[in-house]
Amino acid sequence: MSEHIPHAHSANLEDLVSGLGADVESGLSNPQVQSARSKFGPNSLPEPPTKTYFQIFFSQFLSPLIYLLLLAAVVAAFIGETKDALVIIVVVLLNAAIGSYQEGRAENSLKALRKMSGVRCRVRRQGQESVIEASELVPGDLILLTAGDAVPSDARLVFASSMMVTEAALTGESVPVAKQVGVLAADTPMADRVNMVHAGTFLTMGRGIAVVTATGQGNEIGKIAKLTSETAQLKTPLEQKVQKFGQQLVFAAIGIFFLVLCIGWIRQVPWAEIFMVAISQTVSLVPEGLPVAITVALAVGVQRMARKKTIVRRLSAVESLGSVNTICSDKTGTLTRNEMVVKAVAYGVSATEIQVQGQGYDPTNGAMAPVADADFQDLVLTSVICNDADLFKTEEGWRMVGDPTEAALLTLAMKAGADLPALRSQHPRVAEVPFDSDAKMMAAVIGSGTGRGCRVLVKGAPESIFQALSPSFPAEQKVRYQELAKNFADRALRVLAFAVVEDEAGAHANLSSFAELNGKMRLIGLVGQMDPPRSEVRGSVDECRAAGIRTVMVTGDHRATAVAIAKELDIHRDGDLVIDGAELDSQWPDERLREALPRVSVLSRVHPGQKQRIVRLLQEKGMVVAMTGDGVNDAPALAKADIGVAMGITGTEVAKEASKIVITDDRFSTIVEAIAEGRLVYRNIKKLILFLFVTSIDEVVILFLALVAGFGPPLLAIHVLWINLVTEGVLTINLIMDPPEGEEMKVRPVPLSEPLLDRALLSRIPLMVIASVASVFGWFLFRTYQGVSHDLVRTETFTALAVSQWWNVLNCRSTTHSVLSREIFSNHWLILGLIAANLLQLAVVYLPFMNEFFHTEPISLESFVMIGVVTSLVLWVEEARKWLARRREARSGAK
Ligand code: ATP
Repeated sequence: MSEHIPHAHSANLEDLVSGLGADVESGLSNPQVQSARSKFGPNSLPEPPTKTYFQIFFSQFLSPLIYLLLLAAVVAAFIGETKDALVIIVVVLLNAAIGSYQEGRAENSLKALRKMSGVRCRVRRQGQESVIEASELVPGDLILLTAGDAVPSDARLVFASSMMVTEAALTGESVPVAKQVGVLAADTPMADRVNMVHAGTFLTMGRGIAVVTATGQGNEIGKIAKLTSETAQLKTPLEQKVQKFGQQLVFAAIGIFFLVLCIGWIRQVPWAEIFMVAISQTVSLVPEGLPVAITVALAVGVQRMARKKTIVRRLSAVESLGSVNTICSDKTGTLTRNEMVVKAVAYGVSATEIQVQGQGYDPTNGAMAPVADADFQDLVLTSVICNDADLFKTEEGWRMVGDPTEAALLTLAMKAGADLPALRSQHPRVAEVPFDSDAKMMAAVIGSGTGRGCRVLVKGAPESIFQALSPSFPAEQKVRYQELAKNFADRALRVLAFAVVEDEAGAHANLSSFAELNGKMRLIGLVGQMDPPRSEVRGSVDECRAAGIRTVMVTGDHRATAVAIAKELDIHRDGDLVIDGAELDSQWPDERLREALPRVSVLSRVHPGQKQRIVRLLQEKGMVVAMTGDGVNDAPALAKADIGVAMGITGTEVAKEASKIVITDDRFSTIVEAIAEGRLVYRNIKKLILFLFVTSIDEVVILFLALVAGFGPPLLAIHVLWINLVTEGVLTINLIMDPPEGEEMKVRPVPLSEPLLDRALLSRIPLMVIASVASVFGWFLFRTYQGVSHDLVRTETFTALAVSQWWNVLNCRSTTHSVLSREIFSNHWLILGLIAANLLQLAVVYLPFMNEFFHTEPISLESFVMIGVVTSLVLWVEEARKWLARRREARSGAK
């Protein structure tokens, strides 16, 4: 366990740093880290207490149905049927064991999920920067924070620039607080400690460097011991729907319970017998296994998605993914590789263009001929100084940390002969305004070199820079650069403009906003970067189209660059609309935009503030929207979207926090795979509901028919219990493991409002019920009229119902595909489940002690085979229906 350094905010900074054995320049050394780790432990809070197996097991008994069953057991014991009472109790226990096992599995996969959503941070150790898991931090570590980062532990600031932090998680205050270096009084309350940053908070602006003063439970948040594990607690809309559905069924079951008692009373059936029939009816109607099976289905989906690089942060995302019909994707990194390489540079008064050679971040290939032009030199200087990325050589080649756009500029500078460390130490930044995707610019202030005044080096989107040029900047030169910027963009290049402000009076030595630079800039050049589209995206876009999902590119990049890439990826086709962010607020009122959005394929130069409006209007148009994002300002749109998708690599912690899913490889295709997975989960849940529902109705109908026709009960309560709780248990859990059929992405998305029992499902139920009731009840009548003893007929009917269920579980696997294909073996789990169900049934029918408890008798092999054949009716009827459905589909496809 770690300990908190008391009064870290009021200590003298040097004393604090040296007390921690730290070094503000190079950070801790590796041996220091190791000894601190063994002393303080990991920077993490203890795991929230998970349910013990006993608690999970016990919770299985907390349901009205179980109370009813226990009551039935008491009644059975009371009327002298001790064996029945015992069987009921054993079956309830077995059911609880199966339920606990399933729930334990779901719980484990959710635990793994919580682990995956761990925070990472940038740290400087042994003079090298690297990105590590926040849990590996130790007191004394030097952390580097930029806008969008989650603060990984409590730390004292040693440097801060325009730093704003939201501390809502800690103080409840949602307005960001400005942070700065300094010493505070010892009694400063936590909320006012502006020289400290705290674990659990987020940087919304600026950047800073801080030395870790506490870890794990020593952090302020650790003291509050607020254990956040959002993923597990809330019930998803689907789970809520199922819960409601289950409650309705319980009411129906209670109604039936009394109805059966009435019928029994009228027919003068002995009350002990009719009570048990009534219990059977109730048990048959309630889908006991459903809620836990749904949780397991969602958890299995989460696991499968994790294997495919999608981290699900909210369980509800799994089901809503299946309904997504619009993906708003940003471009850089998601549709493109985010491996920037500068291809063209234009500089100086005459806008001289040079092509740059080489690939990737390696500056050694593609060295440029020396250029003496002063503007070119300033462009190189700006590339190095107005830049937060870093480039270094490792054994595997050249690596970068930071923003790829900026890293590519460092590579360019080195190709032009710049010595990065030398330039950085010659021209230290005295002030800066960090990159902001609304302003689309970044500025750094350095000394002028003459001892007086300063220089502001700016880089940013061409329009942003053009707007801020000094009135004395020659108009024809501006026009030339504007044409060139358009030309670069048409070549699918990402364009950055470079400008300087010569400030002899030193008025900008404390520059804090871009507004101060308006009308003062002098353009010195342009850079065009290539960011090739990812090769697999085109296929995924087409797959989405076939699945009724539209892809819209929402990008901060220039219109021409965006359209060029969108065309290449088939996102933009002739006739599609393109709207520019600049027009969005002025020319597109809500009504007009709402109507146009379904035809828009590219939204360019959009600033994050506009994304939320786009999501809202799409949603008002009935779309279910997945929206990608990475920056701090994307958070509101990510939270508003039905599925906020944060980027795992380039995404800020703020964006991840606001999102339902995080894709760990930033690829568009991963989103599409997650959608396919979401659709699969939904399909499997539907199969499960169909299966459970048909069995329930079968049982109710058979028991009713017998009762109304005046026969003794064809099934005992314990038989119904056995089928519903035991054999159904081993089948359903495996049905939800069904692999994709390959059709998931060939149909339209499921509307969010679709009821659980939709029309397609409801239309299949009657046929299945008629077929299985006809065969099972038909067998019962046939054998009764043959004069076979009632106990034997009952055992056979019980077996017939079980076998008919086995056939039906195969039917439920697909709406149109035949069972009789190789796909029958595609779900090994289900095959194992069927074998288990078989063995269990054989045990109940043939083991003498089971006979005694279940009031069964061994049935002849001949009967067993005949039952298998007769009950296969439900399979053949479904096969015929599927064949017709396939034919109809083929015909409508051919038209
Ligand atoms: P997307 O939203 O699709 O990821 P994007 O990455 O181009 O697109 P932004 O990161 O907001 O969107 O960038 C918008 C524009 O701002 C870019 O076209 C570029 O001109 C400029 N820009 C990007 N990064 C920087 C930076 N680090 N410094 C200065 N200007 C930048």
